[in-house]
Amino acid sequence: MSMNLILMGLPGAGKGTQAQKIVEDFDIQHISTGDIFREAMKNETEMGVAAKKFIDKGELVPDEVTNGIVRERLSQDDVANGYMLDGYPRTIDQAEALDQFGTELDRNVDAVINIHVEPEVLIERLSGRFICRTCGATYHKIYNPTKVEGTCDVCGGHDFYQREDDKPATVKNRLDVNIKMNTPLVDFYQSKGVLHTVDGDRDIDAVYQDIKAILNKLA
Ligand code: ADP
Ligand code: AMP
Repeated sequence: MSMNLILMGLPGAGKGTQAQKIVEDFDIQHISTGDIFREAMKNETEMGVAAKKFIDKGELVPDEVTNGIVRERLSQDDVANGYMLDGYPRTIDQAEALDQFGTELDRNVDAVINIHVEPEVLIERLSGRFICRTCGATYHKIYNPTKVEGTCDVCGGHDFYQREDDKPATVKNRLDVNIKMNTPLVDFYQSKGVLHTVDGDRDIDAVYQDIKAILNKLA
C-alpha cells in the first residue's frame, strides 16, 4: 500500500527536519518545492531565473508554475510507493489542483501532517538555520548543531550556507505571506478529514515521535 502525505507548516516549523527523519523509517519520496526551486536557481534554468524574482522577495511563485512542477513530479514512477510533499500546497488554488491531478494520476493524498508552531518562534529558527551544501541536510546554530563542529552529520561535508531568503530582509515578508494562506489550507484539509496537527514547538525528537505514531497507523 502506498502512503501519500503532505507536510504542512509555516516556514521554519520543521518540515525539512522531520522529512529527513521520516525517510529513514518510511520508503517514500520527499518532494520539496523549495528544494526544486533552489536547484533550478543554482542551475540557472529558465524556470529558476523566473522563480528567483519571487523567492528573493519572499513572495510565492505563481500557482501555474508550481502546480505544473508538482504534477510532473508526481507522475514519475519513483513515487509509486508514496510521496511526502514539503512546502506544497501553499494556496487553495494549489490544493485544488493537487486534488485534481492526484485523482487523475491515482495518487491522492492520504494524510496531512500539520506541524504547528506559533509565528513568534519562527524568526529565530529561520535566522539560525544553516544547510549542508553537499547533501542539503538542515541544522540550527543553537537548536540543532552538527555533532562535530563544521562537519555534516549526514554526509561528512564541510561546506555550509545560509539561505538567501533566511536573511532578515526577507524573513518577515515570507512569514506574513505564508501566515495569510495557512488558515484556509488547514480548514481545507480539516474538512476533508485527513488533517493531523502536531505541536512543533518541542524538541525535534519529541515532534518526530508524534509524527511516527500517526504514520504507523496509516502504514
Ligand atoms: P521548514 O522546512 O519547515 O522551513 P526546517 O526543518 O528547515 O523548517 O527548520 C527550520 C530551522 O529550525 C532549522 O534551523 C532547524 O534546524 C530548526 N528546527 C527544526 N525543528 C526544530 C525544533 N523542533 N526545535 C528547534 N529548532 C528546530
Ligand atoms: P521553502 O523552501 O519551502 O521555504 O520555499 C522557499 C521559497 O520557494 C518560498 O518562499 C517561495 O517563494 C517558493 N516556494 C516554495 N514552495 C512554493 C509553493 N508551493 N508555492 C509557491 N511558491 C513556493
